[in-house]
Amino acid sequence: MPEYRYSYRLKRKVWMLDDADYAPIGAAVDNYVNARKDVRRNGETRLGVAAERDDLAALGQYALGLYEDKTGLVLAHPFDLRAVRAALYGPDCQFCSKPLRTPQAKLCAACGEDRATETPR
Ligand SMILES: [Zn+2]
Repeated sequence: MPEYRYSYRLKRKVWMLDDADYAPIGAAVDNYVNARKDVRRNGETRLGVAAERDDLAALGQYALGLYEDKTGLVLAHPFDLRAVRAALYGPDCQFCSKPLRTPQAKLCAACGEDRATETPR
């Protein structure tokens, strides 16, 4: 089940997906990123051109659409989808309730409290 949690990258709460739900969306974002790289590799060096191409835009919209279908939430850019994978984050801070930035985090990035003061699960 998706969890509604704060994302530091997006600076808002979004639906975080478990790895099974994220897999098809992550693959769609990979396709979008690889297509952008191909455009650059094939000699197009002007910044912004990749963003204007309809075929690339369609790949990005497809990835965003997968997330929207699953959660009802519309994100602004395909790159935002990189931030909605629940496994990237740690448990909620017991002081401020924001997620720890990584599963390994030793302190909370939002309030600075030490994770070691938490009761172990
Ligand atoms: Zn905190």
